[in-house]
Amino acid sequence: MYNITLIPGDGIGPEVSEAAKHVVDATGLNINWETVNAGEKVFQDTGVLVPEKVFQSIEKNKIVLKGPITTPIGSGFRSINVMLRKKYDLYSNVRPVRSLPGINTPFKGIDLVIFRENTEGLYAGIEQELPDGSCEAVKRVSRNASIRIAEAAFEYAKKNNKKKVTVAHKANIMKLADGLFLNCVREVSQAYPDIALQEVIVDNMCMQLVMNPNQFEVIVTMNLYGDLLSDLCAGLVGGLGLVPGANIGKDISIFEAVHGSAPDIAGKNLANPIALILSSAMMLNHMGETDKAEAIIKAVTKTIYEDKVLTCDLGGKATTNEITKAIIKNII
Ligand code: NAD
Repeated sequence: MYNITLIPGDGIGPEVSEAAKHVVDATGLNINWETVNAGEKVFQDTGVLVPEKVFQSIEKNKIVLKGPITTPIGSGFRSINVMLRKKYDLYSNVRPVRSLPGINTPFKGIDLVIFRENTEGLYAGIEQELPDGSCEAVKRVSRNASIRIAEAAFEYAKKNNKKKVTVAHKANIMKLADGLFLNCVREVSQAYPDIALQEVIVDNMCMQLVMNPNQFEVIVTMNLYGDLLSDLCAGLVGGLGLVPGANIGKDISIFEAVHGSAPDIAGKNLANPIALILSSAMMLNHMGETDKAEAIIKAVTKTIYEDKVLTCDLGGKATTNEITKAIIKNII
């Protein structure tokens, strides 16, 4: 039996995490889900953003499936997502972006993975207002964090027979901060002579991605660029409802979709649960349950391609519950 921490989160989080939980259970794995919650809703109810039992559960179980958590814009509390990534040193944010059969998009056959540095950069949260009323935000970049995300990307490329890793940076302007990151990636690449390193300035990267995304296999980049490129890439394959993700550290890993809490559709049974369901497949792979992970991916593919059960974001009419039931039916 596995013990897994489930954090439903805010907005559409409870709907999609319930769906993902049922799909994982349908694979026949014996899982004890320990449900604890954090975020805006918990704060409204209890006055605490992250109850102590959330940390206790994460530290005990080490594997977490998490729905999105709302972060106030421009003021209010700082991101709980960023806090968890930093607290548990979940340095590698892995986001596979793949075309799924049956989803109508301008590009076919996209198969790339983004490795986003997850603990520093502009997300370090070092901001201050200066006496003249202007504000500054510090971009922190360390050799240690840059080397380990580069290693994660190259190791992934090696294990999966990829021929090229692309680093997206802005070292022409931020010569020290982005320059350090780029130099670390170059250094790591030396140990992988069979894998080419392509260096692309991040603005050009955006253009390349929307013109010819099939040229990319593995992308390694800094925290904020990774955040932006992830949503861009999600758009290439059909939207945020489809793209999974994982935050991997040494001992603890948190699996969550790329998307946020989608307050515009929350509580309406409209959310596409596939992104979190595919995140749960990443989780099972991480746990060594590769057959079960494959069963989930096949069930999702059959549901959208053969059965044509699609949620509104994909041009269909199925509710969250209906597509979840259809996926469960296809698990063999
Ligand atoms: P969002 O990802 O929540 O939504 C962007 C758009 O995509 C919306 O139109 C939404 O309806 C749609 N969408 C997203 N997920 C979908 C799904 N599964 N099915 C169908 N449509 C979906 O981004 P946002 O509106 O910029 O952010 C909302 C909140 O989420 C903010 O508070 C933000 O800070 C938070 N957020 C949290 C995480 C996280 O917890 N990891 C990640 C990103 C954003």
